Amino acid sequence: MNLGKIIIIIGAPGSGKFSLCDFLEKKYNFLHLKITKLVYEYAKKDPVLEKKLENGEFIEEGQVNEIIENFLNYNKNRNIIISGYPRTKNQLEFFKKFKYRTELIFYLKLDDEELLKRVQNRHICSVCDNRFFSNKESCCGVLFKRQDDEENFYKKRLGLFVKDHSEMDFKDFNFLEIDSSDSTENIAKKLFIYITRMNITF
Ligand SMILES: [Zn+2]
Repeated sequence: MNLGKIIIIIGAPGSGKFSLCDFLEKKYNFLHLKITKLVYEYAKKDPVLEKKLENGEFIEEGQVNEIIENFLNYNKNRNIIISGYPRTKNQLEFFKKFKYRTELIFYLKLDDEELLKRVQNRHICSVCDNRFFSNKESCCGVLFKRQDDEENFYKKRLGLFVKDHSEMDFKDFNFLEIDSSDSTENIAKKLFIYITRMNITF
């Protein structure tokens, strides 16, 4: 059996990670690892974790890492795309143990003003977690706006992302930065041009 490859998409909240992963999942049959969803799935079998999530408590980085590790080991033979992880220097350090499967870390870059504009129009499906940039779309569940997408909350999240991101050193990985103001389809194309050039095979 072939060993599955991993591609990581990182970027500030609102930079389009989810849309890109969704596109890649549908078009190229990647398995999209959605961290939040995965943690909630685990919580169904772990009452302590479940309680923490219910109370909105902080989930320790070590526990999140462990859940991700289990998932990646279980899906050894699948090509996986991960969005929004690793998020911190410590998580990146931990993730080095999956370096042998990780082809690329892809950083979606967008300026602050554009990010803020995007998240203010962002609507999320309450069932499948799909993201839309207007409320005129329809999906399998009710669309809602995240409270932490409100301007003041968002600026704090963005500040945290910038701080964490500046502390991360990607030199051990193939790292590619790309302007995220383009369409999802064009960004995916650029990603694949890079992958082809690197002779990365899937
Ligand atoms: Zn939906």
